[in-house]
Amino acid sequence: MFETYPAVVIWETTRACQLACRHCRASAIRHRNPAELTAEEVTEYVLDPLKPSSAVFVLTGGDPMEREDIAEVVAKAHERGLRPSITPSATALVTYQRLAELKSAGLVSCAFSLDGSSAQVHDRFRGIRGTFDLTMKKIHDLHQLRIPLQINTTVSLYNRDDLLLLSRKVEELEAFRWSVFFLIPVGRAKSRDMLGPREQEEVLEWLWQIQQQVPYEIKTTEAPQYRRIQNQQGLPLSKSAVWDGNGFVFIAHNGDIYPSGFLPLAAGNVRTDSLIDVYRNNPLFQGLRHPDSFYGKCGYCEFNTVCAGSRARAYAITGNPLESDPFCPYIPDPRRDTSDKNKISTKTKVIP
Ligand code: SF4
Repeated sequence: MFETYPAVVIWETTRACQLACRHCRASAIRHRNPAELTAEEVTEYVLDPLKPSSAVFVLTGGDPMEREDIAEVVAKAHERGLRPSITPSATALVTYQRLAELKSAGLVSCAFSLDGSSAQVHDRFRGIRGTFDLTMKKIHDLHQLRIPLQINTTVSLYNRDDLLLLSRKVEELEAFRWSVFFLIPVGRAKSRDMLGPREQEEVLEWLWQIQQQVPYEIKTTEAPQYRRIQNQQGLPLSKSAVWDGNGFVFIAHNGDIYPSGFLPLAAGNVRTDSLIDVYRNNPLFQGLRHPDSFYGKCGYCEFNTVCAGSRARAYAITGNPLESDPFCPYIPDPRRDTSDKNKISTKTKVIP
């Protein structure tokens, strides 16, 4: 399904950001890096090759608003039939005028992070007091401009007890999607802040329950077991799930090509390698696209084409992106395992 082109392409425009989020994947810093891709480079090495794909093209960071040229890149992505979206940090750099420019350039949606339903929870997470109130103001601007809003939340021990209130806040803010990220210990995020496997499963089951009641779509990142749970509850799912390296690619600020921003294994660099060639043919990407060859239970699980486990979490915890997701409590029927027993990893284990 995603052998030829990715469906979602994330571009880390810069690592510069004025916030100090405690779980920042990019370990964002205050200043821009001279090694960042220029607008011309990202056009030539990323947007042009993706032209036949109509992929979602997400400008992330750091904070994309730290760059002056993002409206230019959004316009070029739009001209090539891609669907540009942006995830700015809530700072004074997000002005009404800049949002309006992005909309005119062809922006299809904008995501703001909200990690708590109140300033108390959110600002503690984001490291800067006043960020919650600023986020509310920027969301108001988005609505004025009729730019569709997505809310991103990273679930961790810090906000697990606030999720119900947060789900109501997402509705109140009229978001079209709630994108719920499950913490992976990369960048500044620490494994001690992650939910355990059982707790994660409970949150996923709860998300599926509230999905029946809320007007917005719920999507998870690095918790693909949500699709397994949907499927177990009777929802027919196409076997075309996107996961790290399978329909999904991440371009770092310096041009490095990764299967995901949470899976820090570079497979090439757009300055020296063809993005499409790396995506199609690099052994890492090839391996990630074939769940039957994964180690342990994810390799023979009947849900592995709709779920496949979090490849980033497998890598973060075991050191191998093709390992089973150690935070999945589901136990598939071992009789399905027809693999060469030598392939089964001794590292695979379920953490209770
Ligand atoms: S065993 Fe692996 S593929 Fe199966 S549901 Fe769990 S994480 Fe997903």
